[in-house]
This record gives sequence, structure tokens and C-alpha cells, in this order.
Amino acid sequence: MCWKRLLPGWCLLVTFLLGSNQIAAERPAAGGEAADEEPATVHCQIEILRDAIVVELLIREHGQEVLDLQISDWAGRNDYSQSISDLRAYDADGNELQVDFDGLRTWRVPTSQQPFTLTYRVHPTKNSFAGEDTWDFLYPTILESHGLAWGPTFLVLPGDETFKDTRVSLSITAPEHYERVFSNIGQQQQTNLGELRYLFLAWGDYHYRDFPLDGRTVRLIVEAGDWKTSPATLINLASRILVSQANSMGIIPFNEDLLISLTMGSSSVMGGTAVPGAVSLYFDPATELTDHGSLPAYLIAHEFFHLWNGIHLRLFGHMNWFKEGFTDYYAYLTLLREGIVSPDDYLRWFNRAVSAYRQNPFALNTPVEDQGELFWSSDQFRDLVYRKGALIAFLMDRQIRTLTEHRSTLDDLMSVLMTDEKILEEGLTHANLLVALEELTGSAWDNFLEDYVNGTEPLPVEEFESAEDLLSHISTSI
Ligand SMILES: [Zn+2]
Repeated sequence: MCWKRLLPGWCLLVTFLLGSNQIAAERPAAGGEAADEEPATVHCQIEILRDAIVVELLIREHGQEVLDLQISDWAGRNDYSQSISDLRAYDADGNELQVDFDGLRTWRVPTSQQPFTLTYRVHPTKNSFAGEDTWDFLYPTILESHGLAWGPTFLVLPGDETFKDTRVSLSITAPEHYERVFSNIGQQQQTNLGELRYLFLAWGDYHYRDFPLDGRTVRLIVEAGDWKTSPATLINLASRILVSQANSMGIIPFNEDLLISLTMGSSSVMGGTAVPGAVSLYFDPATELTDHGSLPAYLIAHEFFHLWNGIHLRLFGHMNWFKEGFTDYYAYLTLLREGIVSPDDYLRWFNRAVSAYRQNPFALNTPVEDQGELFWSSDQFRDLVYRKGALIAFLMDRQIRTLTEHRSTLDDLMSVLMTDEKILEEGLTHANLLVALEELTGSAWDNFLEDYVNGTEPLPVEEFESAEDLLSHISTSI
């Protein structure tokens, strides 16, 4: 892979098309297969209706007597199947096949190694993006005026990982009523099952604006409605954060265009999600998004940083502490570096992390490495993973600078991780993180990881008295 090192002044390439008519057309909603090409192994047809999504999956080849198709358990949820109805499978002659559903998220289709078609409807389970319950925002939003759905929550696909490179042609249709469909899968509408799984789809009533970023286009779509903060302010804020992170990491972590959605949460539902090629954020529209203790800016910075840490650099095994903790650390650091938060805001954030870590009941008895179910089932453990992970990032930065007499910082470690072909291929593991740290500093790191990540030794962190003192320990500039 070839990565472009960004040059100083590169952020000048970011210009705004706000108020301009030079807005590129949205990615085409209708697709199909070119007549002279070998048909893809799977054809996925998504038809958006006013009150449902109809999915048809034609699987031409699979080599299985019985094929298991699954909806994901994304974000620890195992009931996305509640949106699915009328699921049926047919052989090539149109005969219906007897599908066996396990009641949770797997449908077993007796295919006799033959091509078959699967069809089903996705119906709405809520009447706003935020819904009524805490996790409703994850489920497909299907409204009269607009909709938004993530592939993991409505696509029923072969569950076996060996199918991830299987070629897929994708076709999306929507009634004219909706005008536009936005998607993170590119112009060609040719993809594979691994990418299709992370389809991001939004349609209907959205404002949208584009800005160019080093030859790529970043598109920001905003749910139409009454927002207190103007789209111009939001785009300005989002682009500053994205450019700052690109400069500090030294690469742009997406090969094609990036789609960012902003939808309406509520005073209790605010957050974001990042998938390949798309970031989704949701806030209380009644809030001035640049106020509120900079929480919206922090959420933007956190989700954007996952484009680097979690999507470009994939993490496997027991690495949630790195994925969430380092993302949190860089989110707040970005805001400090951009002057979006003050040194005193930064001090408050840091001291809150220290005290939350100290008060967490899991802190001194449960290693912060991924504990599987515990991560999603316990808010307190999940909080520890974020807070302690961020404090480990701080300690690692301090240690790297001490060991290298300030020649290297945590930014250098991150740049290594983001560009090392072997790590990008394998994903970040405990073992290759250890190698990267030792190569960067020329010192042993096994005790550090053993004590604080695999173990429960108390972290040697204190609350700081002054911002000046805290800032003397971190890299405040890129
Ligand atoms: Zn996160």
C-alpha cells in the first residue's frame, strides 16, 4: 500500500463550497451489472420504500448443501432480526425453500449447492432516529420523509467469514419521493461481501455539502429540520478536526470519498459510529453544538479518529482498550491542538479521567484487555476501557519521550502503526504493538503492558494542579 506523507501547509487544500452550486451529484442510486462483465457471485438489490426496505439477495455460487445467513450482533445487540419480516428463499426455478430460523439471528437455507434467491422486508421499529430506548439509534430508521440504515443492522448475509471476498454487485433504488440516496459504497456499485456488511445508507430529506480533501471528497449530510447550529459552523468544525488528525497521523485513512451524517438525537441520545467510508454522528438539535462543554466537538473528534484507529488500523483480540482509549486520548488532544478546548478544559478532562479510573469498581481487579461480553454488558467496565485506555496513552507518550530523550512521541508510534504493512495486514495485536514500541524506543516494554494492560497494577497517574503542569507532559503541537 502506498501512503502519502502530508506536507506542511497541506490543510490549505481544504476549501469550502458552502453556498456554492458546485456540489457534485450524489452517488448514483441505481446500479446494475454491465452487460459485458462476468456477473458477480452475489447480486444485492435494495429497494427503499416509504415504509420498508425490501432486500433481495441472489447468491449464484456458494458450494454449500446448507447455507447459514446471519444478521450481525453489532455493538453487542442480538435482536436486529426484530426488524426483519417475510423472509423467503427460492431456488432457480422459483420453488420456495424451507428456511429454518434459530429465533435469534441465523437463517439456515437448504440450498443443495444450487443458486438461490433470498428476499425479505425490513420494517420500522421506531418513529425517530433516537427512538424511545437507549440503543434504538442503532436500528434502521425508516420514516416517511427520510431514513438511515447501517448494513450490520439490516443485511442478512452469509455468516461464514470465508465469503468476505465474494464479489457483489449492488443495486439501490428509491422512489422519486426521496430525491437522494447517500451511500458509502462507491460509484461502481461493485463491492464484496466484507464491504457490503458495512454499507451505510441514508435517503430522503437531508441537506448536503462537500469539501475536497487531498483529491478526495468529504460529504457532510445533515438531517433536515430545526438545528440550533448552522450547517456552515458544523462543516467548519468537522473539517478542522479531520485535517488536524490527518496532519498528526501523516496519512488520510480512506481511499475513496468519505460520507459524514449528522442526524437528530436527543438530550439523552448523543454519540456516533464510524464504519469504512462513513461516520455517523447524532446530537440534540436544540443544543448549540459548539457549546455544551465541547461534547459535540469531542464526539466528532472521537468518531473521526476511529477512521485511523479501528478502521484503517484494524484491531483484533484483546485490543478494545487501545481502540477506544487511544481514540479518546487523541479526540481530546485534537481539540486542544486546534484551540477548540482551552488548556483548562483539557485539565478538567484529564482529571476527570483519573478520578473516574480510581473510582471504577473494576479498576484494580479486572484487566482492561477485552473481556468479551463484559464490554457490552457493563457500562462501568466499558467506561474503564475508555478511561484507563486514555490514561495508558498518556503514560505511553511520557515513557516514549523519556526513553528517547524527547526525540519521539506517541504521534511517532501511531504513525508507525498506521503505515507498517505487516501490522495493517494482520491488524494490531498485543505482540506487534510490543515490537513497535521496542523498535521505536530501543527499550523493553513487556513489563509496562504486563502491569497495566494484562494486569491490574494501579496506574501511576495523579490529578494535576494546573494546566501548565499537565501540558508540560504532553505533545501539544503536531
Ligand atoms: Zn469509540
